[in-house]
Amino acid sequence: MAILKIYPENIKKNSEYLCGLCSSSGIDVAVVTKVTCGDPMLAQKAIEGGAKYVADSRIENIKKLRKAGINNPALLLRTPSLKRLDEALDNIQMFLVSELKTVEAIAEVAKNKGVKPSLIYMIDTGDLREGVWYSEALEEITRVVKISNGLVNGLGTNLGCYGGIVATPDKFEMILSVGKKAEALTGQKMKIYTGGNTASLPLVEENNCPQGINLFRLGESIMCGTDATNNRIVPGTTTDTFIIGGEVIELKVKPSLPEGEIGRDSFGRKPVFEDRGNRLRAILSLGEQDVLPAGLIPQEKGIEVLHASSDHLILDVTDYSGALNVGDMVWFKQSYGCLLRSTTSPYVVKEYE
Ligand SMILES: *Cc1c(COP(=O)(O)O)cnc(C)c1O
Repeated sequence: MAILKIYPENIKKNSEYLCGLCSSSGIDVAVVTKVTCGDPMLAQKAIEGGAKYVADSRIENIKKLRKAGINNPALLLRTPSLKRLDEALDNIQMFLVSELKTVEAIAEVAKNKGVKPSLIYMIDTGDLREGVWYSEALEEITRVVKISNGLVNGLGTNLGCYGGIVATPDKFEMILSVGKKAEALTGQKMKIYTGGNTASLPLVEENNCPQGINLFRLGESIMCGTDATNNRIVPGTTTDTFIIGGEVIELKVKPSLPEGEIGRDSFGRKPVFEDRGNRLRAILSLGEQDVLPAGLIPQEKGIEVLHASSDHLILDVTDYSGALNVGDMVWFKQSYGCLLRSTTSPYVVKEYE
């Protein structure tokens, strides 16, 4: 048995706090639901906390929110696949985009459907994931505005995802400055300037976010209370939002060194071992399919994660002072990456507290 306990009221509290913080700098919030696979109940709690938009990288997740009756404008975070524009435009009102070809195709489909989605063109300000490289941005955006039928009405940037680049005011100044120039050259008003994700929150906390940035896309900070890029807990939030447990299915004392010739483990990795003598080990009903083992944070002292294969998580519990028996649950907090896996695994039972 593997259980993910979810605390929706704490997610609402995080949203309330962060939306309040952003609002005092003139910034609206889109709650990013991708780490929960578009969980409607949690999106709803974030909306109650003040989020104005819902955002996700996958069309499936946004459809799930719609089906559950959530009707806030939706933002697609990953530029849409050309093969799924029909479906995308039937369900989504706002898009992050970074290719002329995509904008052209969206404009065409939108015209046929009689809809007017809002396209936010992404500028790469140094993190090296999506967007036109900043030094080429003005030229590309001027061109794209002309072919977009008035649909491109915002600019954005994303940080902290590939390069691990942290947000500094100059990054946001860049997109504001390109926007101002593009407006002057094309006459098209840029209404949305979307700066950050969770990694950009320090700028708002320090009251250092350039004026004009008016939309943040927040996932990790609302859902987890953490900020992986800046390696911190976000001040004012709680991390008591999710906890995952696996059941002890074997509990035995064994040597800490395997016996025989060592090849590779089930994932092709070369395992390393330290001889610590005989140790008490527990096997839990969790595996690589359900969690990112390195992202598991034991909630009790004396519990150490040794290894996981697809379905078996091996713990060293020798130093644990409590009583542990076969059938007991062992609980962990999780990194963002680990949570992504556990919410995605159909084998993990989700329980709302
Ligand atoms: C995932 C994502 C976000 C949310 O990031 P968090 O760090 O979870 O706040 C924002 N923008 C884009 C483009 C994303 O892909």
